[in-house]
Amino acid sequence: MAALLPHADAVVVTSLQVRDNAITLGLTTCRPAVPCPDCSTLSTRVHSHYRRLIADLPWSGVAVSINLYTRRLFCDQAACSRQTFSEPLPQLVARYGRRTLRCEQVLYALALALGGEPGARLAQRLSLRVSADSLLYRVRQTSQENAHAPRVLGVDDWAWKKHQRYGTILVDLERRCVVDLLPDRKADTLAEWFRTHPGVEVVARDRAGAYADGILQGAPEAVQVADRFHLVMNAREALQRVVHRHQGVLRAAMKTATPEASLAESSPEPVPLASAAGVAERERRLARYQELMRLRQQGAGVAAIARALRIGTGTVRRYLQAGGFPERHRPRSRPSILDPFIDYLSRRWQEGCHNARQLWREIRTQGFPGSDGIVRRWLMQFKQDLPEALQHGHRYQRRAAVTRMAEAPPTTRQVAWMLFSDDIHEEKDRLYVERVLASSIELRQATELAREFHRMVREQRSEDLDDWLARTNQSALHSFSESLRKDLPAVRAALTLPWSNGQTEGQVHRLKLIKRQMHGRAKFDLLARRVCQAA
Ligand SMILES: [Zn+2]
Repeated sequence: MAALLPHADAVVVTSLQVRDNAITLGLTTCRPAVPCPDCSTLSTRVHSHYRRLIADLPWSGVAVSINLYTRRLFCDQAACSRQTFSEPLPQLVARYGRRTLRCEQVLYALALALGGEPGARLAQRLSLRVSADSLLYRVRQTSQENAHAPRVLGVDDWAWKKHQRYGTILVDLERRCVVDLLPDRKADTLAEWFRTHPGVEVVARDRAGAYADGILQGAPEAVQVADRFHLVMNAREALQRVVHRHQGVLRAAMKTATPEASLAESSPEPVPLASAAGVAERERRLARYQELMRLRQQGAGVAAIARALRIGTGTVRRYLQAGGFPERHRPRSRPSILDPFIDYLSRRWQEGCHNARQLWREIRTQGFPGSDGIVRRWLMQFKQDLPEALQHGHRYQRRAAVTRMAEAPPTTRQVAWMLFSDDIHEEKDRLYVERVLASSIELRQATELAREFHRMVREQRSEDLDDWLARTNQSALHSFSESLRKDLPAVRAALTLPWSNGQTEGQVHRLKLIKRQMHGRAKFDLLARRVCQAA
């Protein structure tokens, strides 16, 4: 009984009716004495009996209701203000509840995970009768007051409606969960939040402007940390602006590429980005193909060849019809449940997190339903696909390198990426970069400074910051260094403290998934509750 129902000591099963699609369990309360909910004095004096019908969780898809025969009792304690009370069974059902507690918990979980309409549809399939409104009501009812003030907070913006309306997300970087959503990204709103949630010691944020002001107003003693990823991206963008001013140099560097050089570089066959395993596989297939053709020339039939090579007759026919060795095309990658998380994973890779299990843990909190094996396989493929020297770079660098294989001249953006990465895999790209850098002192200097900045941020060498700033002052990157100076304490903190907004971005991504699930009809308060609670 205890395994079947809570309060097994307080109720007895008196009947069990099973009909086509309904099970009714009859229960009667049976304690000889019941404590008053106000004064806890035990009472034995029964005032009256009555029945309650309570919905419970279904049994194998069959709806279950509990027909509870219960009592109202007198409280005889003179000092107690209560004269009568209904027998409480708090673990079974709330005072005026029409569903058991465990049934309510399931509905709440459904509402959090799926929202109104989809939640109600799934509930229907589980034989739980509930409306979408009633599900949403459960989420709204739950108070958000359990929110604690985190010690280390990540602040970032998220698009409520892209390019039109933005909100702010607040993430507890130590507990790795969303603390709150704000309806806009104004300084005043953020400041007000800090005033009502004192105790934050460190804040990681990317936008220097409004967020910095808001933190300063609301939590002046908190240490602000500029986000390292955004710092590096800003450096690359600054370099790109310098590149943009040197179009002539870029064009000249393209022309200097001699035809002999490009001839020597291009191989007669298209070179697939093949792994060692892929090459071995091709060798094996080629050997089989040659053997097949040899047998065919000796006059063997399809069935005989199939038997000899232990392959299907269909395969033999395909080979014979191909008129040459059929190269295997890389299968187009199939859609995967990992797809929505690829951007995030690539970014975390760039930040230096190469641990599959850690990555898996992070995207799992964003709602990834798969196993860590999927992440591990993706990571292996990702590493394999990266040109070796770019393995520590970003996916954009990869794209730039790949695009360069085609003969189109690189864009300003691609050149900036090439200059920004310390080493370039493609010989052709390397020569091109060499020519570009050889023809402009300004560009060479800016490139060196940008690379230095990247290394300094990656290795968190705050002791080199002042020297770097001083030297950059005289270079083409001076406006970038000027912007860093304006935010200097936060930049310095970024090169000293371990906190970064990587996981905040992850939570923004999770928020997007939840928002999409709500089909854009989400009211702000409901969205906020689901994002904060479903963690
Ligand atoms: Zn009482």
